This record gives sequence, structure tokens and C-alpha cells, in this order.
Amino acid sequence: MARIWTVEDEEHISVLIVDVLKDMGHEVQHFWDGAELNKGLAKHPVPDLLLLDLMLRGKSGFDLLKQWKQKAETRHVPVLILSARSTENDKVKGLDLGAEDYITKPFSIRELKARINAALRRVTPEALRVELGALRLEPDNRGVYVDGASVALTQQEFELLLYLAKNTGHILSRGQLLKDVWGYESETDASRTVDYHIKSLRRKLGDEAQNPRFIETVHGSGYRLKEQTA
Ligand code: CA
Repeated sequence: MARIWTVEDEEHISVLIVDVLKDMGHEVQHFWDGAELNKGLAKHPVPDLLLLDLMLRGKSGFDLLKQWKQKAETRHVPVLILSARSTENDKVKGLDLGAEDYITKPFSIRELKARINAALRRVTPEALRVELGALRLEPDNRGVYVDGASVALTQQEFELLLYLAKNTGHILSRGQLLKDVWGYESETDASRTVDYHIKSLRRKLGDEAQNPRFIETVHGSGYRLKEQTA
């Protein structure tokens, strides 16, 4: 069962979508427009999938999609566009803005179900896992394993390690890490924050700065997660 939200302003289509989702065994929340959607977001945890109409009162579906893909909180949630707008331009725009898929109305129930299942398969816990040799990360439950043994990390350490892992082999500067992991907007002199967390991370992973198994210090540049062999 997944938690799926839908934004749709046509009543009969809303009823149809909600029925289909419930029939599939999912938990559904329906919103009439972007304003309601944002209120929902303030009250509830983010859903596993969002079905989004384009022509809505207030903010358009494109605007809402753009917002979702900009916010750290919602960026990872796959969005399926459901729209009567069927031009290639609309589809390309939607996919460029980060939509997972684009379904044109009218759609068949079978097709809708198939596309929803495909989108959910891509975001299952298994699909989100990162395996790098002896190191395994499970973002859905913040699990970290070294040689199969569980390692307890803080949220910040986990985010840092995940970012390093997703950029394996690349040197990441302290400034870049502060921006992408900590969310600092501008250049700040907080590089010791990064060093402190790297130190703690190494200790927990059983890694050594002098003879690194995982995290290398690249002098004058930053840090890098070494390529791992299976
Ligand atoms: Ca509409």
C-alpha cells in the first residue's frame, strides 16, 4: 500500500481516480487545487506519489510541479501528470520539469493502474538502496551497513554519507557539501562543520583518515568516497 495524493478539479475524474486508487489498496487524499495541496503538505507527511492535473484554478499544475521539485521535502516524490493537454510541447515541458510520467485524458483505468504501478516500482525501498561494495545504504529507513553490520548514524551524518555515495569517485568541496547537504544558500565559513561530521562519520564506519577505506581527504579540495569493489 502506498500513500497517493491527487490534485484534480473535475469532479467525475476525481471520483474515478480516488475509486481506482482505493481499489488498488492505496491510501488516497484528494485536493481540488494547489492551495489545498499546500495545506495538506503542512499537515501530513509527504506522499509516495502525486497525480497532478495541469489546468487548475489558481496555480497551474506546471507551477505546482516546479515548486515540488524545488523543495527538499518533496523533490523525491514522483509526480504523474494527468492532463487533457496532449501536445508534445506540454509533455516535454512536464517531463523537463521533473514529472515521472505524463498520462493524457481520457485514459483507460487499466492504463492508469499500469502507470501507477510502474512509478511505484521505481520508488520501492529496494530501488532506493545504494550498494557500494561493503557499504550499503537504505534511505527509506536510514539504515547503514558496513560488511553487513549495522551502523547508527545521525540524520546529518546519513545525509552526508548518502551524498558522498551518490557522487562516488568525485571530489566534493566543503562549500558544495554545505550547500547540497546542509542547504546553506551562500558561501559561509562553516567548513569546520563538514570536517567535524566527516571525522565522526569515519569513526562510526571504522574508517581511517590516513588509510581510508571509504572517505578520502583530497588536500586543498575536499572529500571523496572511493570507488568500491564488490
Ligand atoms: Ca483540470
